[in-house]
Amino acid sequence: MDAQWDVAVIGAGPGGLAAAHAAAAAGARTIVLERAEHPRYKTCGGGLIGTSLAAASARISVPARDRVAAVTFTVRGRRAFTRRSAGQPMLTMVRRDDFDLAWCRAVVAAGAEVRQHAQVRALDQDVDTASVTLADGEVITARYVIGADGSAGISSRHVGVTFDQQDLGLEVELAATEADRAAYQGRVLLDWGPVPGSYGWVFPKDDELTVGVIMEKGRGAETKKYLADLLDQLGLADRRVLRDSGHLTRCRRPDAPLRRGRVLLVGDAAGLLEPWTREGISYALRSGGWAGEVAARADDPTQLSEYDQQVERHLAPEMAAGRRLLRVFARHPRLIHAAMASPMGWRSFELYCRGDLTMANVVRRPSIRAAVNLLGGRPAETQPQPG
Ligand SMILES: Cc1cc2nc3c(=O)[nH]c(=O)nc-3n(C[C@H](O)[C@H](O)[C@H](O)COP(=O)(O)OP(=O)(O)OC[C@H]3O[C@@H](n4cnc5c(N)ncnc54)[C@H](O)[C@@H]3O)c2cc1C
Repeated sequence: MDAQWDVAVIGAGPGGLAAAHAAAAAGARTIVLERAEHPRYKTCGGGLIGTSLAAASARISVPARDRVAAVTFTVRGRRAFTRRSAGQPMLTMVRRDDFDLAWCRAVVAAGAEVRQHAQVRALDQDVDTASVTLADGEVITARYVIGADGSAGISSRHVGVTFDQQDLGLEVELAATEADRAAYQGRVLLDWGPVPGSYGWVFPKDDELTVGVIMEKGRGAETKKYLADLLDQLGLADRRVLRDSGHLTRCRRPDAPLRRGRVLLVGDAAGLLEPWTREGISYALRSGGWAGEVAARADDPTQLSEYDQQVERHLAPEMAAGRRLLRVFARHPRLIHAAMASPMGWRSFELYCRGDLTMANVVRRPSIRAAVNLLGGRPAETQPQPG
């Protein structure tokens, strides 16, 4: 039996929508299945680094709530200093409901069908087709399925992705007062947290402030306390809370599969996320774009290996570098704090945020490489093995 669609995408976040846009633009009959209805809230800082902005600007008019050219760094709410970017803004702030809606419209304009309130319950495949079963029992068949259903979705289980890092992010959206707007306009705050590898942020969104923290999974009470303490220390504890939510992030093991048969995974579903900052939108947009292009032109599943090659070439070195920096940060947060005050540390961070320097190239800079190695961030293959 012929498949109804060339490409079926599960999930209409940045990963799924970038995939659908690429597939539809390449002429594939494409459907997106999304359980929610856009615009919908998603727990996310909505901070676009330059790489995300470049990928998005090529397809949509980015609904920016603010553009950031200054960063205040603190350690557990204290030792504050602020650095300013000399040139272009480093980060663009979006609300995910606006951002994902803009993508959704672009995907429809590119010729794909986006079906909302369509929760996928099961995923299956045989030699010729893949099929997804919706909550109402309808079965949709496609030549290829792109799993973009996020960090807790069914598609990563279907493919058998394994993860080596799991974190819990907690966030509140606060109604910003006039004073908050003046204080945070064009500026973010990054706080190095109480548990190794944890950090917090304040991201300005015009009339709202997003305040969040992230910490390794399994420390729910400490994560909550960190967020409460951060709000207290910043004098934001009495603001009206518009949203209060949490979400897991997961980073794939370097050897985890990215696809199985006719099913490819992108974005959070594949565990593609920068391990130190837990920045994931650029990973979702890039992996989605490659998966959509490859699926649209593949005559048979063997040709999907091109997708793995793109991820290996561009994202795997970034994730490896992020893991190394996370190890250093977890052991020596105060040194990272001091490094951000140094001209070279700040410059590298600024260039990375702008998308002008990759994380892999940051750790390749001779003096940074030497410091990272010395401070416990040697590449994984040169780490002493247990036992
Ligand atoms: C607290 C926190 C803050 C973050 N801040 C940032 C940040 O500032 N910048 C950044 O770059 N990254 C950030 N990230 C990471 C970023 O949010 C993710 O990496 C990004 O959303 C991944 O996009 P995605 O399309 O893969 O998945 P998602 O955005 O999670 O989209 C998945 C979609 O699939 C849908 N779905 C799920 N299951 C089904 C189903 N069964 N059937 C149909 N649809 C389904 C969902 O409704 C959703 O729309 C943050 C993450 C967290 C947790």
